[in-house]
Amino acid sequence: MSRPPLPAAFLARERLRQGDAAADDLAAALERTPDLGLRANPRVGGVREIAERRGWAAQAVPWCLEGATLARTARGTHPATRHPWHDAGAYYLQDPSAMGVVPLLDPRPGELVLDLAAAPGGKATHVAARLGVDGLLWAHDAVPARAEALVRNLERWGAPHAVVSRGDPRHLRRLGPAFDRVLVDAPCSGEGMFRKSDAARERWSLHRVRACAAVQGHLVDLACDLLKPGGVLVYATCTFAPEEDEGVVEALLRRRPDMDLEDLAAGGIRPLASDAGDGPVAQGTVRWWPHRGPGEGHFAARLRRRGEPTASSARAPRPTATLRPADAGQVAAWRAFATETLGTPPLPGQRLATDGERLWSVPSLAWSLPLAGARAGVPLGRVATDRLGRRRFEPHHALTRVLPDLGRSCATLDLDEDDPRVAAYLRGEPLPAPGMEGWAVVRVDGVPLGWLKGHGGHGNNHYPRGLRRGPGPPPELDANGS
Ligand code: SAM
Repeated sequence: MSRPPLPAAFLARERLRQGDAAADDLAAALERTPDLGLRANPRVGGVREIAERRGWAAQAVPWCLEGATLARTARGTHPATRHPWHDAGAYYLQDPSAMGVVPLLDPRPGELVLDLAAAPGGKATHVAARLGVDGLLWAHDAVPARAEALVRNLERWGAPHAVVSRGDPRHLRRLGPAFDRVLVDAPCSGEGMFRKSDAARERWSLHRVRACAAVQGHLVDLACDLLKPGGVLVYATCTFAPEEDEGVVEALLRRRPDMDLEDLAAGGIRPLASDAGDGPVAQGTVRWWPHRGPGEGHFAARLRRRGEPTASSARAPRPTATLRPADAGQVAAWRAFATETLGTPPLPGQRLATDGERLWSVPSLAWSLPLAGARAGVPLGRVATDRLGRRRFEPHHALTRVLPDLGRSCATLDLDEDDPRVAAYLRGEPLPAPGMEGWAVVRVDGVPLGWLKGHGGHGNNHYPRGLRRGPGPPPELDANGS
């Protein structure tokens, strides 16, 4: 089927900017099959280890330690898009150039990091991995349905120290200048997505470029206000349009005397093998072009708020509308479950809280922030009353993805990737479970997938309905360039 053509005005602009030969190369690159990138989840292993264990040919991504470009088959597909390790969150399928943004942000363990336009979570999962078990990721998206996808992807990945919120980002002003680093991966005119997305080609116009630049200006202003003195802002887009990109950075610097552009070369922080941006802000900006390296088109700039950095610290819990400290009965049920099934005491460094129904493990740093309306930490499960009136703990699916933080002595059902029970489990079917009484984690080649509850030789499937695979092949989840 033929694709909509590249917008003529876009091509004319690129001819003026980079000359005919380079613009022809760009146009040709935008007609090729997109690259497929894989970013490894460090809770499972390094990218080489993951690709080698699966037998997938992979080329390192120069600007991202955790990333690789996968060689597609002749039909343009790849087994990584349908492998159960994807469902297990062992990796995230992400455009290779998009993997350059978080290394530029450079989040460090213990810091508070805000991702202001975070769905579906490509960069948020990357930040979560870099923060480790310390620190806090606050991931926000304006569009509620997209925030749902963000929650699913963070749960799949395993992010015990994340807060997710949704809606008008201006509501985040209540947080004040709390963050060490803020990422604005802004809604944009999408020229860098022309290879992957017909819709991006059809929607593009100069009017849209200008409208996106205006929205981005508001977002970066908000981001600056939420930064601590000394904090780092990374502004990124997936477009080449200079009215967005460089134009937004230049206008920000004119409006905000408290913000400085970083010199990436002097600071040794320019990602390897990507180009500088254009014009007077080139020293603080990076551009990824699809005709010059792996991946789609991206742009990023790194700025710093003036002033002396202040340390992040856990403060006394603040009461919130949604969470309160867990009651003694919930805590006792959770502790019994943790000892019996997980073989370990509760999460270190986090506090137990309840929303009235579920028990949550909330990162200590989150308690110092106004959490109303946000989803903070990991849902551990809920206390349910069984048919005999006994109060028992029912674990939440998300708990299976933070188990390395909880201990390794959990009850498990270990399956190989080729075992037909893996596909049956992912379809939501019960499994035979001779000798299994109570909760166990189903693992595929050692990586947790979800809960099974054994009784009388039969294992009840607790894989969430919304994540189950249908009868057809699974979609290319998250392979959308973010
Ligand atoms: N960072 C994401 C990732 O890596 O997966 C991709 C973010 S995408 C480029 C931009 C996001 O901005 C979208 O998820 C969209 O819902 C959100 N958005 C759309 N309009 C917005 C607005 N007016 N203000 C803030 N965010 C907006």
